[in-house]
Amino acid sequence: MTNKKFVGAHTSAAGGVFNAVKNAEAIGAKAFALFTKNQKRWDAKPLETATIDKFQKELDKSGILAKHVLPHDSYLINLGHPEVEKREKSMDAFLDEVQRCELLGLDKLNFHPGSHLKQISEDECLGKIAEAMNRTLDKTSGVSLVLENTAGQGSNLGWRFEHLAAIIDKIEDKSRVGVCIDTCHMFTAGYDIRTRDVYDKTWAEFEHIVGFKYLMGMHINDSKPDLGSHVDRHHSLGLGKIGLDAFRFIMNDERMDDIPLILETIDESIWKEEIELLYSFVD
Ligand SMILES: [Zn+2]
Ligand SMILES: [Zn+2]
Repeated sequence: MTNKKFVGAHTSAAGGVFNAVKNAEAIGAKAFALFTKNQKRWDAKPLETATIDKFQKELDKSGILAKHVLPHDSYLINLGHPEVEKREKSMDAFLDEVQRCELLGLDKLNFHPGSHLKQISEDECLGKIAEAMNRTLDKTSGVSLVLENTAGQGSNLGWRFEHLAAIIDKIEDKSRVGVCIDTCHMFTAGYDIRTRDVYDKTWAEFEHIVGFKYLMGMHINDSKPDLGSHVDRHHSLGLGKIGLDAFRFIMNDERMDDIPLILETIDESIWKEEIELLYSFVD
């Protein structure tokens, strides 16, 4: 049995970021995701030294490595916002998010690329996102910016592999950019992974357009909506339209070794069972 898969979930950091570690441990996770601030608010109190210390102590105790932690930024941030002031506000908040990761000793920040809101072209929006990322990279160190693929709901970009590649192409420091592939988003964006054939075909396309060297994490979710529906609604593993085979393939695919594999499935009361289920798939 290989032991190179690091599965966990997006756990709650209510009461302090250190609680996300405890909540991960409680479900037998070897990786986790968290919000380092309230994801529905623009402002946040700076992280206190005592909080940072406590987080690092809990992380050490848990045995979970920093590289298997995948913080997620606030949902309010849109680095591709067509309006200057709103994009600036997003950039300020994004910089704060990256700095919080720096303080916590974490090396990645996962975020949704951005939305054009039907006011600017896709290309223009992708350019603005890349520019915002370059500016952020200039002001920070040690944290990679991890673009998440989206379902392509509304005017959200990042649902096509080409969008991710176009952004990466414009990033000056390519050692600090990566992608996180969400299986639900991938599926509802139109990339099928349900059978061996289509799984191989989809990932070959990913390798060709983006490249596995940029894969820094995954979100492991089944999907309520159908293939290509462009609707972002997660489901518990095996209960949605993707089905269990795709997750069996992932757990035996060495291209997904040593990166955080994070559940964002809808019923957190069964995360422990879902993690056990995933590990049971390893041949
Ligand atoms: Zn996700
Ligand atoms: Zn989603």
